[in-house]
Amino acid sequence: MNAPSPQAKPGQALSFPPKPGIDVDAVIIGAGFSGIRTLIEMKRLGLNAIIIESGPDIGGTWYWNRYPGARTDSQAWVYGFPLDEIRFDWRWTERYSTQAQTHDYITHVANTFNLWPSIRLNTSVESATFDEEQQSWIIGTDEGSNVSARFVFTATGQLSQPHVPKFDGLSDFTGDVYQTQYWPEGGVDFTDKRVAIVGTGATAVQVIPIVAKQAKDLKVFQRTANYVLPARNDALSDHDIADLRANSDEIWERAFTQPFGMDIKQAGRLAADFTPEEQLRILERGWEIGGFRFLFETFDDIFSDDGSNAVASDFIRGKIRSIVDDPETADLLCPKGYPLGNKRPPLGNYYYETFNRDNVSLVDISANPVTIEPTGIRVGDEFHEVDAIIFATGYDAITGTLARIDIRGRNGVALKDRWTNGPQTYFSMLVDGFPNLFMVAGPQSPFANIPMVTEYTVRWLSKLLKTASEKGSDLIEPKPESVEQFRQLVEAVTDATVFRRDGVRNWFLGSNIPGKAEATVMWLGGLGTFGDACDVEVNSGYSGLEFEKTADKQAASLS
Ligand code: NAP
Repeated sequence: MNAPSPQAKPGQALSFPPKPGIDVDAVIIGAGFSGIRTLIEMKRLGLNAIIIESGPDIGGTWYWNRYPGARTDSQAWVYGFPLDEIRFDWRWTERYSTQAQTHDYITHVANTFNLWPSIRLNTSVESATFDEEQQSWIIGTDEGSNVSARFVFTATGQLSQPHVPKFDGLSDFTGDVYQTQYWPEGGVDFTDKRVAIVGTGATAVQVIPIVAKQAKDLKVFQRTANYVLPARNDALSDHDIADLRANSDEIWERAFTQPFGMDIKQAGRLAADFTPEEQLRILERGWEIGGFRFLFETFDDIFSDDGSNAVASDFIRGKIRSIVDDPETADLLCPKGYPLGNKRPPLGNYYYETFNRDNVSLVDISANPVTIEPTGIRVGDEFHEVDAIIFATGYDAITGTLARIDIRGRNGVALKDRWTNGPQTYFSMLVDGFPNLFMVAGPQSPFANIPMVTEYTVRWLSKLLKTASEKGSDLIEPKPESVEQFRQLVEAVTDATVFRRDGVRNWFLGSNIPGKAEATVMWLGGLGTFGDACDVEVNSGYSGLEFEKTADKQAASLS
């Protein structure tokens, strides 16, 4: 893939045919990383845009997720925007930045680009309706006001809609209940408390070691064991920062082509080419380096070859058994029956080591669901008395937040009805029947470091708007057949990986939500190959798109 075209520079104002009666050129829904980056681009294109955000502050995920231990799993220096104005005046302090620092960063971005006057906080978008007469969008909010716009950008986040399973008896529980995504501002003191945590995904893996140090007793309720990789977080020295700045161009270039959108070099080797002893040495090195580098700097075929995956999966099980003292607990913590990567591997900061503490125990709930009683949790015949329960039960990912907004395109068709069998998009960014609706880091976008996905898609959409403007078009809509072709490509890409396995719950196939249609909701081939597919489309002159004009549509409806 070529690196995506550079972002628009100020002064490259676009012009579209006048559209009397609209309030703004663009409404952007959401003020997380995607919404903020989109607003910057709209300003650069000379378009009048506003963000509407339901929360009391910007940051999205990084505003809401204040749970103990919350930090990025991506290297901090590529968890941001490669924009000249901010590239060198922000100093990350750790390899994985904390929630607070990540939130400070996005605030710094908003300040630098003077975005605040264009952001409306504490306002929820409830509907977005395509007005056939005006060929524009009407955005309805919980304040009862409407905003009309030429374009709508959804920047509602991939992991924003918490999944809160209905646990029998929860309303009768007399202790305290916390959901990680709605953590109280100012934190919670668990000193002298008996605490339960339900869930062992990436969120819980961050919470558990921190709460374990504070609580009198911590019980971890695990339904499925995960392959947890050591994060190896560390402080960034002045020397590290100088190095990162000196190599900034190269680092961003690499992140655009690396499968996960990170600053990681591919290993350039396949597992089968090495003896078992050599494989072990390579994996040991990857384990020591830590983070997602374990997945990519060891063997290039971990996600595409069953044999290579089995070697890496067995290696991790061996590590778990060597770290955890109690063999029974170690065995329960070992993932079984599914390959590494089939669930998104969490990064741990002394996660497995935490189970060697006297005040921490693991409760297996794989055979019996959790039911809640007034003073604790029941699992089959066992009862666990606790003072507080933390739920870290994940998200209705990718489509969950979009489904809560009543989005209606041509002929009043609702987006959620259009997607009953899973999302169908044109390269994750547009949908047929929904002209001028643009999704940033939307369904079927790459499973990768989200700011990188955002950067890629925002630049791509920016270029698309320039093309439309040059063509004198102000209505962009994909052809239904191009959307179907892309769906087939997304599924074929998934089939070429180890990611699809019957009976394994994961959010990127929608299988973690009971009743949700199972479909590949993300591009699982990596950011670079997604870019390649997008390049093919651009080089074909956007053959999958219709560029139309409002005036022509209005004339046609009158005739
Ligand atoms: P998750 O990976 O979906 O994990 C949810 C956990 O809750 C799983 O262990 C699941 O068990 C359990 N669970 C769900 N429903 C349950 C029920 N009814 N009874 C018992 N257990 C139940 O969610 P997550 O941990 O919030 O992470 C989601 C994604 O967010 C991650 O994969 C990652 O992409 C992102 N994330 C990123 C960071 C970061 O970058 N720093 C941090 C946190 C999260 P099963 O596995 O059996 O379904």
